[in-house]
Amino acid sequence: MLINSKDAEKSVKFSIVIPMYNEEEVIGETYRRVKTVMENIGESYEMLFVNDGSSDGTMEKARVLAEADPKMRIISLSRNFGHQIAVTAGMDAALGEAIIVIDADLQDPPEVIPQMIEKWKEGWQIVYGKREKRKGETLFKKVSAKLFYRFINSLTDIEIPVDTGDFRLIDRRVCDAMKILPERNRYVRGLVTWTGFRQIPVEYTREERFAGKTKYSLKKMLRFAADGVTSFSMRPLKIGNIVGITAILSSVGIGAYQLYSKLIMDNFNQIACWAALILFVQGVMMLCMGIQGAYLARIYDETKGRPLYIVGEVIN
Ligand code: UDP
Ligand code: MG
Repeated sequence: MLINSKDAEKSVKFSIVIPMYNEEEVIGETYRRVKTVMENIGESYEMLFVNDGSSDGTMEKARVLAEADPKMRIISLSRNFGHQIAVTAGMDAALGEAIIVIDADLQDPPEVIPQMIEKWKEGWQIVYGKREKRKGETLFKKVSAKLFYRFINSLTDIEIPVDTGDFRLIDRRVCDAMKILPERNRYVRGLVTWTGFRQIPVEYTREERFAGKTKYSLKKMLRFAADGVTSFSMRPLKIGNIVGITAILSSVGIGAYQLYSKLIMDNFNQIACWAALILFVQGVMMLCMGIQGAYLARIYDETKGRPLYIVGEVIN
């Protein structure tokens, strides 16, 4: 009996992870669209819905669907933990050889999944959806998203692909590598990129939300941006160095000019002298903070506890 169920687990080829937070209006349609696509592919699969503490009828609807379909599984979190954690929970529970993460609102068309699987079969280990166009999103959302991705990339040391959400296929190896990253602030797309492996984009048009409203409020978006930057960049911690050195150099410049004025031309500006002094003291303080930042960056790096490396493949 046990062996049988293990065999059944092993035979799952594809896991579709679908995070949901108050998506009662879309879940039925999402289920149907994903199901149709996966049935057409004709290989074993599971649909893994992660209920991220919805407060509407999402869970009830999901339960009804799952009761009628053994290929559907639900993981229900005890409260709303946020999109990134929901995705992580889904990845942790997925059994497939390849895991596909897709939003529940059908902004990422499930019809792109076969293309992703195609690339996976060619040997790519991460196939990420790259948004060519965004339909039905406000100008603000489009512009802020564009700026957001460019800003993060300008700050971070790894190249997180731009215009890419969490819609992607990852190989089992990548999924296992994600599991040994113990950090608590999970910026999933950054972590996936960080693992390395062979990555390729598949372009698609980002559709309008099928129904309902975005679950990312401005506040959540800002927090998300902060997570992205602070998880993958130490640069903000070192701002103190730059500001400090600039201030010290300017104060020395001003001071030197005043000294020159006094000695050569016998007139000098007392206010400028005070300004130079204050600037100097401030500069030293900023520099000290920058130095502290450098140590803090190291402590932070250590506490993230990421593995030093991830093995991609071993031969013999
Ligand atoms: N989501 C979630 N938990 C949250 C917020 C969102 O699981 O706290 C899910 C949501 O149900 C959807 C996906 O994450 O399937 C993306 O969210 P949304 O469509 O609201 O974000 P947007 O596309 O507007 O960036
Ligand atoms: Mg959406």
